[in-house]
Amino acid sequence: MTGRSEVFYRKWRPQRFDEVAGQDHVTQTLRQALRTDRVAHAYLLCGPRGTGKTSTARILAKALNCREPRDGEPCGGCDNCVAVTENRMLDLIEIDAASNRGIDNIRDLRDKARFAPGSGTYKVYVIDEVHQLSGDAFDALLKTLEEPPPHVIFVLATTETHRVPATILSRCQRFDFRRLSNDVVVDKLAEIAGEEDIDADPEVLSLIARTAYGSLRDAENLLEQLAVSYGSEINLDQALELLGLGDAESSIELAIAALKSDPKQALEIINREAAQGSDLGRLRGGTVDVLRAGLLVKAGVEDALGQSQDALDAMAEAGRGVSLEKLLHVVTELEKADFRQNPSSPLPLEIAILNALTERPTAPVAAALAPALAPVGRPAAPAGPAPARRPQSAPPPVPRQQPQRAAPVTSGTQSPGQPAGPVPEPAQPRRPARAPGDERWAQVIKELSRTRGARFILGALLRAVGEAKQDGDTLSISFRQDSMEERVVNELADPRGRSPIETAVENAYGVKLKVVIAGRDSNGAAKKTTTAMDSHIVRAAVTMGARIVDEGNAGGTTPAKVEPSDESVPEPDTDQSG
Ligand SMILES: [Zn+2]
Repeated sequence: MTGRSEVFYRKWRPQRFDEVAGQDHVTQTLRQALRTDRVAHAYLLCGPRGTGKTSTARILAKALNCREPRDGEPCGGCDNCVAVTENRMLDLIEIDAASNRGIDNIRDLRDKARFAPGSGTYKVYVIDEVHQLSGDAFDALLKTLEEPPPHVIFVLATTETHRVPATILSRCQRFDFRRLSNDVVVDKLAEIAGEEDIDADPEVLSLIARTAYGSLRDAENLLEQLAVSYGSEINLDQALELLGLGDAESSIELAIAALKSDPKQALEIINREAAQGSDLGRLRGGTVDVLRAGLLVKAGVEDALGQSQDALDAMAEAGRGVSLEKLLHVVTELEKADFRQNPSSPLPLEIAILNALTERPTAPVAAALAPALAPVGRPAAPAGPAPARRPQSAPPPVPRQQPQRAAPVTSGTQSPGQPAGPVPEPAQPRRPARAPGDERWAQVIKELSRTRGARFILGALLRAVGEAKQDGDTLSISFRQDSMEERVVNELADPRGRSPIETAVENAYGVKLKVVIAGRDSNGAAKKTTTAMDSHIVRAAVTMGARIVDEGNAGGTTPAKVEPSDESVPEPDTDQSG
């Protein structure tokens, strides 16, 4: 259906009920029916794509026709089982209703259904995407369902149950397939990766699972694409590149800025990404995604549909004191950003974020700002990675925003002449600068890319380091993301983590260095509560009027502290890799 090769999907398709991931409530009921010989004549399998509906239908067909079924499972070895596995079972008829939606197709089906099965006991008709059938076709199908030939079993599958007529529903035994949790998908991917000899970081598998939104089929296809593109070793950067996600951390950053009602920082992030030629639609998508996780966390949904622990940690922290209404408002406004006119212009996203940060969606702030932003926001070329839209006087794309882009925000809310521009930056870049010392740090990351510490792959954690600064006999590292920092604190507290890190540092820097985390003492305890995030908020509070800052966030007068959350002991997402 996706047009891709789907080799993994086919190869790793479950062949038994107990291999169907995450749908035990369905498969156990079906096995019980098979054991007790109480199989219904029509089933309706509902649920999101890629959750195992058609695989389950095929296993059912196999078990029904198996010569030696065991405990409700097909034996897998008899002629009929093998025929189903090899897609040559004549008594299993699979119909895609999307391309066979007319009444003639169903009449044809009905005529053929009258004939007795060939090698099997039952003819099994699987009608996928059954909601696509035309009204006439449904009527014809209903007649068949009302008086089914005794040797025929219908399995209807749909992603849109509400489009299936009630008359059909009432004739079927219905099963609802669940969207798969992140863990289930990661487990399965780890199993496939192991068998296929693919060496992928746990973070990669987690990213794939997240991107696939609970669809195992999509996840398997993504893993396959990655393996085809990058060979048997896949790291997180490659995965992000292929998935077009740019930088997941930027999305989290922007989400946090939105939750903190910090328009200045939000605009800085947007413009930094625009200058780097990032796909702003993706940035928006990623940000909405993360915020959505925040909504779900706020609403008490634990699993949050397979979001990363990082994102959840970050959202839980930033979302404290933010009302559900505000979150919803931010997401709604971001969804409105329309990139169709000009995909590479930051303007739509800027307007969306400013609207999101105003109390009312229709507040005049964004409208007033639009003209001010427009001249610089309009790029010369429609697309492409060229950061050509900077003012000519600006330096080449260092990963830093240019402050003059943020200035209109303040001029929109205050008098135009008021100095609004750059407040001195804290010496803490949020992204790796390309300084000479970074080559050595890059070597550390590279050396640790496959090294597991106490709980995590160290290289993957250390990629979140924004700066590594040598000072005497210590190497002080600072982070762009609190949740990653916490994990590294834990790794450094454990000899299994610290020892390989310091060895790699010694190899790269040519001297033995004690690795410490900036702003923490040698035990990893936080020395200060001031972080870059804090100062952003302080600056925002100073430069922004209360009119634009959400009063739900203390009106910008008492900036929320970004303290390292001490209760967050992240779940290891590495344990499934066997
Ligand atoms: Zn069999």
